[in-house]
Amino acid sequence: MSDSNHNRIIVVGGGPAGLIATLALAQQDIPILMLEAQPSPVDHRRATTFHPPTLEYLRQLGAVDSVIENGLITPIWQFRDRKEGLVAEFDLAAIKDETDYPYRVQYEQMNLNTVLFRMLGDYSHVDIRFAHEVQSAEQDADSASVRVDTPDGEQTFKGRYVIGADGARSNIRRSLDIGFEGFTYEDKIVQYGTHFDVGAALPDVSGVAYISDPDEWCVLLQLPEYWRVSFSSRDGEDDETALRDDIAEARMAAFFGQAGATVALQRSIWRIHQRVANVFRKGRIALAGDAAHINSPMGGMGMNSGVHDAMNLADKLGRIWRGEADESELDRYTRQRRYVALEDVREQTIRNTRFLNEKDPAARRESHDAMRGTAEDPEKRHAFLMDSSMLAGLRTANAMA
Ligand SMILES: Cc1cc2nc3c(=O)[nH]c(=O)nc-3n(C[C@H](O)[C@H](O)[C@H](O)COP(=O)(O)OP(=O)(O)OC[C@H]3O[C@@H](n4cnc5c(N)ncnc54)[C@H](O)[C@@H]3O)c2cc1C
Repeated sequence: MSDSNHNRIIVVGGGPAGLIATLALAQQDIPILMLEAQPSPVDHRRATTFHPPTLEYLRQLGAVDSVIENGLITPIWQFRDRKEGLVAEFDLAAIKDETDYPYRVQYEQMNLNTVLFRMLGDYSHVDIRFAHEVQSAEQDADSASVRVDTPDGEQTFKGRYVIGADGARSNIRRSLDIGFEGFTYEDKIVQYGTHFDVGAALPDVSGVAYISDPDEWCVLLQLPEYWRVSFSSRDGEDDETALRDDIAEARMAAFFGQAGATVALQRSIWRIHQRVANVFRKGRIALAGDAAHINSPMGGMGMNSGVHDAMNLADKLGRIWRGEADESELDRYTRQRRYVALEDVREQTIRNTRFLNEKDPAARRESHDAMRGTAEDPEKRHAFLMDSSMLAGLRTANAMA
């Protein structure tokens, strides 16, 4: 079965990248068919950090208020050592002249998804279909189509362009035979959500803290309703054991030096990768978000860069749709966004991950000293904050021809 309406853009995937692309295109009056494999919006607890340029883009779309009102404004964040305490602290107030949002907002990605789905309900030219799993994509000179498993059997949907925002395992990327080169770390991330008063147990800790340790590193993230505490996985411990209550609570007690940190909310384990697609566009089909690049979450950049991809791509597709630009703009999309994925996000998240898990004592000392030196020198600190807030990389990319 297939339907005959081709005058639209098909967006595959209803995560942050697909939703932002859909909203940004809908606001340009472009008809959209969004296909999401799951029967309802995905509610994994994943990204929590919203960086300044993402807040600027969300303002452009009319979606920033609910993020700021319901999130936790977090201007200060830290690099720490598990045994020695604070290594370096950064306050985004130092770049207040560069952005209207000189802070991170700690807010759950799944809550953003809910807000965006609700906003999309206002657009009669947006057709959202859940339980539609795209298997593959094809194209000819004038159109692109996707083959989809639906509750009514297999169907083919056609459009003028397709955006593959179908996450790290993207069927769109696979069906276009686009390479996804990079590597996977040995450590996994074990995440627990707790109502334990982390601020009382560690009085000088900030709402975002990356805590290095050669044996078991940790990341603390404060959300409006709870703290997320993430540890590196332990050698030889299987996933099921790592998620057990007694194991989780013993790990938390060892970390905080006291019992009582029960895991009330969340427990999950994630693999950590660094991979970037060889191209972000083939013909009429473009990739965005995790379908195009995945990185270590140390620095909170994956979802943010997916949102930046989506805004960039929606702007270019909008101009192509209206005949204001030609399709070579989609190659520029690849150049700009691949630059960010490879030269900016990849480099920063590799450095942050190394800060956390470096085992060699001399290299650890060197990395801690470098971080202290950056925090103490106003010029280096400013440049570091521009990079780590994703403002610098985005501005460089957007200026690229
Ligand atoms: C533990 C952890 C912490 C993180 N923290 C941060 C952070 O603080 N900040 C940050 O910026 N990033 C963070 N990230 C990364 C962030 O979660 C991802 O980069 C983000 O989810 C990518 O969004 P996306 O829309 O590209 O993909 P996804 O969120 O994966 O969405 C893809 C969507 O496509 C759907 N789909 C998949 N296949 C198909 C198909 N064949 N057909 C139709 N639909 C399909 C899926 O169901 C899903 O809804 C973190 C990741 C992890 C694992």
